Amino acid sequence: MAKKEIGRREFIKTGSIAAGVLAVAGIGVKYLDKAPSGTQRRQDFLRPPGAINEVEFMYGCIKCGLCVQICPVQAIKLAGVHEGLSYGTPYIDVRNQACDFSCDALQCVETCPTAVLNFVQFKEAGLKAVEKATEGIVDLRNSKVNPFEVQKVAMKEAVKMGVAKVNEQSCLAVLGKGFKGTPRDESFNGIYRQPYDENAGVIFVKDKTFDRKICDLCVTECPIGEKAIVLEENNASFKPKVLEGCTGCGVCVMVCPTQKPSIIVEPIKS
Ligand code: SF4
Ligand code: SF4
Ligand code: SF4
Repeated sequence: MAKKEIGRREFIKTGSIAAGVLAVAGIGVKYLDKAPSGTQRRQDFLRPPGAINEVEFMYGCIKCGLCVQICPVQAIKLAGVHEGLSYGTPYIDVRNQACDFSCDALQCVETCPTAVLNFVQFKEAGLKAVEKATEGIVDLRNSKVNPFEVQKVAMKEAVKMGVAKVNEQSCLAVLGKGFKGTPRDESFNGIYRQPYDENAGVIFVKDKTFDRKICDLCVTECPIGEKAIVLEENNASFKPKVLEGCTGCGVCVMVCPTQKPSIIVEPIKS
């Protein structure tokens, strides 16, 4: 009898917990469903390199965070609970920390277990570039071509996260102004690797000072270089011009010295 009583009590207790859990889950789903359109699914997230179509990405990403862990500059974050259906998915806020390709080989893509960060396109770009660079070379060991380097550059250049866009209203170059000093304030902890110094390690943006008659930081600090962005000069007026090779890495956004960045990255909508 006592045994039966305990069983009944346990049943009621377990049942109440289950009902509670279901109620909370129900509220969660209801919240996500009824949430204002802006919180249902973030359409403006810049996804890490190689991300497949946004809708497929959102449902295919298992939110494991491996891409977050492997990134050496910690560019990737997981979306918080207030991001509705996008909760737990990875994104890059380039103003806070850009993807500067410090990992050299798209490690976030390589590590993704579900391939929602898809490596195939990078593999193909790398192979093609190595084939082209080594064409006709009989003994690679005695040649100046470094296949690893060729592959690395080609893979990096194949990234298409987004495209940079200049705000001509506030861009210092367009206004004919220079820049002297450190682009971001003391409290900013963003890091990057200067593209023009091959042996440079990663440095804090706040440790870097510039002295430019016409501001061109977005151009000189771009890890892709003149395939992605150039400073156009026309009758002593200047303008950063974004080109086809822009990967959307966001280093230009991170180093832009205007208070509100005068260059942004718009995610690719594929
Ligand atoms: S490609 Fe960029 S985001 Fe991905 S791991 Fe490398 S530095 Fe980080
Ligand atoms: S590694 Fe892939 S599956 Fe895991 S959180 Fe990153 S994108 Fe999603
Ligand atoms: S212009 Fe250069 S630094 Fe800016 S997003 Fe494009 S590739 Fe990156």
